[in-house]
Amino acid sequence: MHREELQLLQEPGSHVGEVVKVMRKSKVLVKVHPEGKYIVDVDKSIDITKITPSTRVALRSGSYILHLILPSRVDPLVNLMKVEKVPDSTYVMIGGLDQQIKEIKEVIELPIKHPELLESLGVAQPKGVLLYGPPGTGKTLLARAVAHHTDCTFIRVSGSELVQKYIGEGSRMVRELFVMAREHAPSIIFMDEVDSIGSARMESGSGNGYSEVQQTMLELLNQLDGFEASNKIKVLMARNRIDILDQTLLRPGLIDRKIVFPNPNEFSHFDILKIMNLMRGIDLKKIAEKMNGASGAELKAVCTEAGMFALLERRVHVTQEDFEMAVAKMMKKDSEKNMSLRKLWK
Ligand code: ADP
Repeated sequence: MHREELQLLQEPGSHVGEVVKVMRKSKVLVKVHPEGKYIVDVDKSIDITKITPSTRVALRSGSYILHLILPSRVDPLVNLMKVEKVPDSTYVMIGGLDQQIKEIKEVIELPIKHPELLESLGVAQPKGVLLYGPPGTGKTLLARAVAHHTDCTFIRVSGSELVQKYIGEGSRMVRELFVMAREHAPSIIFMDEVDSIGSARMESGSGNGYSEVQQTMLELLNQLDGFEASNKIKVLMARNRIDILDQTLLRPGLIDRKIVFPNPNEFSHFDILKIMNLMRGIDLKKIAEKMNGASGAELKAVCTEAGMFALLERRVHVTQEDFEMAVAKMMKKDSEKNMSLRKLWK
């Protein structure tokens, strides 16, 4: 027993590599970092049909015979993704987006919960949906809520980080993302700021940036195209504006639906404020009226600010006055922002 262990310890280590491709006559081309690429033989114990490009394998030291298939590694780079086991947001926490909630129930929730209904109607499972709207309008909130109501793992990844921080790794990250989604299924992939994939492509019309971003995009399309539409993985992508990218993404078989999130109007302001603040005695209508053009996130900031004013005076109740001061403060900030923008223009 001990002797066997000792022997194992004394054996020289294997090389770890990644399969590039399977050649004829049971030979495999393997990339071993940083040494290079080798054409190697496969040990008899290995089922060669299990070897596909990008499988991680171990090569025996010296002979370079492929003798082990290693489990796919979920990369440390994966901390680009935030994984939440069933988020805690619910539809009840969303104000004013009734139509958007209805639509996401149709394209995401119902197909996940009742695949048999779609099947009997002969309707294909949707792969995902694009969410359009300015920042802070509740796209993430709704995406987390739908994951909550369908008991899905919520995997969030930032499109801009994907192309900016992981230069040269974009397409690998996209592949890993889908590996992760499969491992945690049922899951919802939420890709934020997908704009940057499209817009970075515009900005760097020449040079490396171009092909890099384009490759990430191609891999994304590839993965979307390749994964079996099922009720186990859905892809939600958030974007600020509608542009050229969409013709490629919004194809049948890829992502074929979109939901638009407008900036809240006076009526939905009221709904959102109502949800955020359960305290009575405050004329929320009046406050909503004053917040023309504010986004959901800004409303949240106002509520927090109002709470801070109460806290400063050691009160546990927020008053109308707190709210009004908070709104005034926000509006002031806004106009300062506009001022400096105007200066920039000159
Ligand atoms: P987006 O993903 O569209 O940029 P988020 O969903 O992250 O926006 O919104 C930021 C925050 O603003 C949310 O966490 C929530 O607190 C608040 N918020 C935005 N829209 C709404 C809404 N319709 N109802 C309630 N809260 C909202």
